[in-house]
Amino acid sequence: MTELRFDNRVAVVTGAGRGLGREYALLLAARGAKVVVNDSGGAMDGHGTDTGPAEQVAGEIRCAGGEAVACTESVANAEGGQAIIDAALDRYGRVDVLIHNAGNVRRAPLSQMSYADFDAVLDVHLRGAFHVVRAAFPVMCDAGYGRVVLTSSIGGLYGNADVANYAAAKAGIIGLSHVVALEGAAHGVVCNVIVPGAVTRMADGLDTSAYPPMGPELVAPVVGWLAHENCSITGESLIAIAGRVARVVLAETPGVYQPSWSIEAVGERIDEIRDASAPVVFPVVPSGHADHIAYSFAMATREGSGHA
Ligand code: NAD
Repeated sequence: MTELRFDNRVAVVTGAGRGLGREYALLLAARGAKVVVNDSGGAMDGHGTDTGPAEQVAGEIRCAGGEAVACTESVANAEGGQAIIDAALDRYGRVDVLIHNAGNVRRAPLSQMSYADFDAVLDVHLRGAFHVVRAAFPVMCDAGYGRVVLTSSIGGLYGNADVANYAAAKAGIIGLSHVVALEGAAHGVVCNVIVPGAVTRMADGLDTSAYPPMGPELVAPVVGWLAHENCSITGESLIAIAGRVARVVLAETPGVYQPSWSIEAVGERIDEIRDASAPVVFPVVPSGHADHIAYSFAMATREGSGHA
């Protein structure tokens, strides 16, 4: 198998001072990428800053013979997002890969979650994604090339107790990724989402003794492929957890058509409406939005005219 390399590519990895992001940065650098190691440091709830983690990972890369620069700006505001992308442009003159991975966690039951905790988590995960994408996307489009990887979570797909902020942010990232993929398609910019699972400091306090091997090194190759020029998919989400790699599929039931509905009719037909035995999938790119509408209109035209 030919080794897939990143020579002459410049990658920005947010939250790369620890955990998963560190693993992504080390892997890309080992394969020849010049890496902006972004991390503002700080505690898991986002409080505080520390230049140590980013500088340490950038140092590790350089010691191993690679190229890296540390950037300790926060992704949580527009100026920070721009500064992170500028670090790549100022130092290396381009940005080919953007991996938005930075994350914080603030847990509270829904009925007790403060607006400050809701905003602090959206600021890093979702608005943070927008801040770095907003700065990098025009540069990538002008260059005719880009690989964007955004980070969702099992919590974003299925929810989890005590993390309304995190679940909302992680689901929102999938919506953002679809637009990056759609608008980037004509410019050589592809965008996909990683749904990782790995034992990092985010697992602090959990009993992981019965877990199968679940290190970040089992996730990094998936992100590496999504970040590589060989990546042949866009607008998709891949799962990587404990050695399992899979695709997340957004599917609809075929549904049922009636020319008019009542509350009672919905109730009577709810099992048919929900019948997921023959799911329909509309790939985001090139035309998931239009395909959804066309499918619905075709049903109305076909069944409304009595030609079921
Ligand atoms: P981690 O806490 O080890 O690493 C996250 C890094 O992001 C930290 O080093 C932190 O300093 C940095 N960071 C936080 N706020 C920042 C900001 N404003 N600007 C720049 N950097 C900031 O966590 P991890 O487990 O490696 O998580 C990485 C990503 O993967 C996160 O987005 C997380 O939500 C996601 N994720 C992780 C898991 C898992 O199982 N570990 C599961 C699902 C999703």
